[in-house]
This record gives sequence, structure tokens and C-alpha cells, in this order.
Amino acid sequence: MKRCYYEILSVERTADSETIKKAYRKLALKYHPDRNPDNPEAEESFKECAEAYEVLRDPEKRRLYDAYGHEGLKNQGFEGFGGVGDIFSAFSDIFEGFFGGFNGGGRPGGPQQGRDLRYDLEINLEEAAQGSDQVLDIGKEVPCQACGGMGQKDGQTPPVCPTCGGQGQVLRSQGFFRMATTCPDCRGMGRKVTDPCPECQGQGHVYEEKELSVHIPAGIEHGQRLRMRAEGEAGILGGEPGDLYVMIHVRPHPKFERQGSDLYCTLEVSMAQAALGRTVSVDTLIDGEEKLKLPQGVQSGEIRRLRGLGMPHLRQTRRGDLNVQIIVRTPKKLSKKQRELLDEFAALGDEFAAPEPEGESKSPKKALENKKKRLWGFS
Ligand SMILES: [Zn+2]
Ligand SMILES: [Zn+2]
Repeated sequence: MKRCYYEILSVERTADSETIKKAYRKLALKYHPDRNPDNPEAEESFKECAEAYEVLRDPEKRRLYDAYGHEGLKNQGFEGFGGVGDIFSAFSDIFEGFFGGFNGGGRPGGPQQGRDLRYDLEINLEEAAQGSDQVLDIGKEVPCQACGGMGQKDGQTPPVCPTCGGQGQVLRSQGFFRMATTCPDCRGMGRKVTDPCPECQGQGHVYEEKELSVHIPAGIEHGQRLRMRAEGEAGILGGEPGDLYVMIHVRPHPKFERQGSDLYCTLEVSMAQAALGRTVSVDTLIDGEEKLKLPQGVQSGEIRRLRGLGMPHLRQTRRGDLNVQIIVRTPKKLSKKQRELLDEFAALGDEFAAPEPEGESKSPKKALENKKKRLWGFS
């Protein structure tokens, strides 16, 4: 028995098209064949959702379904989807950016583009900042040289599949319904190898491992992808290979945090360095050590900016900044001499003293209040 389309997508009967699309996308990715290899149940759910979406996104079909149910659609010749491949080509907007889908392109019996491949590449932040050349070990199906990708020993296009007449689909009766499904004999190819090539056993492609060089441009961000044309899987019947997508994962850095093209780090300085405004050294990500002049009396938590020492903008020479947060450390152990000097320093009075604003009262009570305000940031 067919389930209710609204129930399948878990949406209200009044749901708008955007809600329906979102609901479908979520389920389609959940039951996606690439995520559920060799799982017929998931495949059924995948098809079921696609059928529901196909009806509910189309105002005319939806109206028919609302009025007459599944029967109403059947009378109009609606048959749902045969193969998974049909779903990908029908809803390419849904599957855009999602990998492993069929590229569609090409009818059964003719050349078809191969599948896209995905490679996850982890790099560190330095490599992301400087750009790097990487070698990927790729294992994939490549066209068989012996038969030119045809699968037929003589290298000719195999004859039309007798089971489906080259359609790649067959109509199958399921209860009252006739469903178009992928032809089991040629697996949707529309052609059937009669004299298999010995090199590839009639597959038209062979597995090959190869090393592939890829240049990672400076400034690349975590989650970005690089497309390498024609480095995906072999096509069918001499079709173009798919593409390879290199997904970039940038490992978190122990010292530097990235926000867009800016970098952030912390720098510990001593109480004296902060108070006196000394020049200190900062380790940068890729520019070695840099000098940083602290302003006199810099406070813990203040951020000093080193311009142009952040991440490069992708494909530009411009660079972001390095933001250094100053952490003032109070000494935990003091030598006898240090203690004496600090005692002396403390005896000199108010160590927080800052120049009093002009015209301010000099009365001790007022001064104390003002100092409190400054300390706690009251205005
Ligand atoms: Zn071959
Ligand atoms: Zn067939």
C-alpha cells in the first residue's frame, strides 16, 4: 500500500513549497545511496521520498493528489521513478554540491559521464597560509585501454540490450501499478556486452591507483573544495570521466586561531614589560619572529595588531592581520632582591596611578572614587 506523500516527507498538508523542498532534501541525503551502500531498504525510502517530492512540488500534481489521492495521479499516467539515476537527474538542484551522485548527462545506450569522486585532504594552517603542493593517492576506475572503454572485445559499441530495447528501463507490475525500473540485464546502460574484452571482463573500465599532484592555493579555508576536471571515475561507453573534488580540511593550530584572513594568538608578557612598554618578540605563523613594541602600561587582555601578518586572501597578494592578545603575568616567585624592589615600589604609593584628568578634584575621597570608577569601568 502506498503511504501518504505528506506523511513520507513529514510535512503538514498546508506546507509551502520551500518547506517541502527542505524536508525532501533532508530525507534524500539521509537515504542517499552513497551513504547507504547495499541497503535495499534505504533505496526504497530514497525512491519513496523522491516520488512524494515529485508530486508535492508540482502544483498540478499536488492538486490532483489532494483531490483524488494516489489513484488520481495514476489515472494521469504518473508512474514514479524507475531508477535512482532518474531521481538524480530530475532533482539535480537538490543534489548539487552533494557528491557521488550520477552526473546524468547522456541517454541510455550512449556515452555517459563517469561519477565524481571526493578526496578528503587534511592540511595544516601553515600549508593553508603558504599554499602547498600535495600528492594524492587515488584509486579509481579508469577507461580500459584495450577496448577503449566499450567493454566489447573488438572495441566497438556493444549491441542494444535485448531486454529493454536500449531504454535502460523496464516496466514492472507492482500490484495495480506499473513502475519503470532500471533494466536488470544491462543495469540501465541500454547496451549489452556480447563479447567481453578480456582486459576488463566487459566492464569497459579497470581499477587503477595513481598519484595525482594538486596545488593548494595560499589562503584556502577549511571546507573549501578544489575541482580537478576529468579526474573522477571513467565514463560509460567512452563517456567523459567525472571530476574529482578535493575537500580541504585545515587542522586546528595549537597557537593560532583563524577568523577569515585574520589570525589571533596570545602573548604572555611580564608585569614589568607591560608597565614599562618594552619591545617583545612574537612568533608569527609563517613570518618567523616579529618585534612588537608594547604601549607603556598595556593591560592584560588588550589586543595589538600586526598588520599584514595574517592569512593571505585567496588568489590575492593582500593579507589579513595578526592580532596578538597581551596576557600580563604576575610573578609567582620572587627573589629576595625582587621582593625588596617591589616593596619599595609599593611603598611609593598608588601603583594604578594614571594621570588625573584635567580639573579633577584632588580630595582623597574623590580620588578614590574616581580610581574605583576607572578600575571597574563605571562611567
Ligand atoms: Zn576492456
Ligand atoms: Zn537493458
